[in-house]
Amino acid sequence: MNQPIPSITVLQLHIPTPTGKSPIHPVLLRDEDGYTLVDTGMIGQFAELEATLADLNVSLSDIKRVILTHQDMDHIGNLGALLDAIPGLEVWAHADEIPYVTGTKPLIKFTPERRAMLPAPVLALADQLLMQLPEINISRTLVDGDILPLQGGTQVIHTPGHTPGHVCLYFGEQQFLLAADELRVVDDVLVGPAPPATPDMPEALRSLKKLTGLKLNKVLCYHGGEYTLNPEKRIAELAENPEEA
Ligand SMILES: [Zn+2]
Repeated sequence: MNQPIPSITVLQLHIPTPTGKSPIHPVLLRDEDGYTLVDTGMIGQFAELEATLADLNVSLSDIKRVILTHQDMDHIGNLGALLDAIPGLEVWAHADEIPYVTGTKPLIKFTPERRAMLPAPVLALADQLLMQLPEINISRTLVDGDILPLQGGTQVIHTPGHTPGHVCLYFGEQQFLLAADELRVVDDVLVGPAPPATPDMPEALRSLKKLTGLKLNKVLCYHGGEYTLNPEKRIAELAENPEEA
């Protein structure tokens, strides 16, 4: 059974951590012209990504494009492998993120300290990805307020702070906000971006204001998953009282 058109399918991959496994959530969109993958998972997770897609009867060749919400390794990690596997794969990213995801500027958080935390085989894959970045052609530059021709109209919301070109996507027909790393679900509570991973926290908190006023049934956080408990009200609270975030 293939996914209906249009449809939004939340995926689940697992990053190994010292205390177990931490789920992350790329998203698969199906539209008339094929599938769009929003974020690609962590470096080294390509086999898990491929298996997850296969469970949905989706083969790599069905994927037409990747939208990157931002540059972090757990989001762009399988981009190189996808580009190798899928000829003509489109990559869409926000203007302010393009210098990083195309290797003109170093990835902001992939620091020597971060590198030192990765096992050697993962680091080798990361270095391979970094070498591939300059070959990436961005097919579409995302701009704040853009309405993308996906899912009956998908709004780009530029939410800088976690990274300069971080974006959220709003699927208006489904009243569904894909928040990427601008929001998290921690112990069933919707909160703001993770401070240690957010170099410009004041700006990230200001960005929360751009998420208020959206009609919402559901928010998806890359870390923490889906949140459905009156998300409009909770986002308004966070935007008003950023210290709660
Ligand atoms: Zn991130």
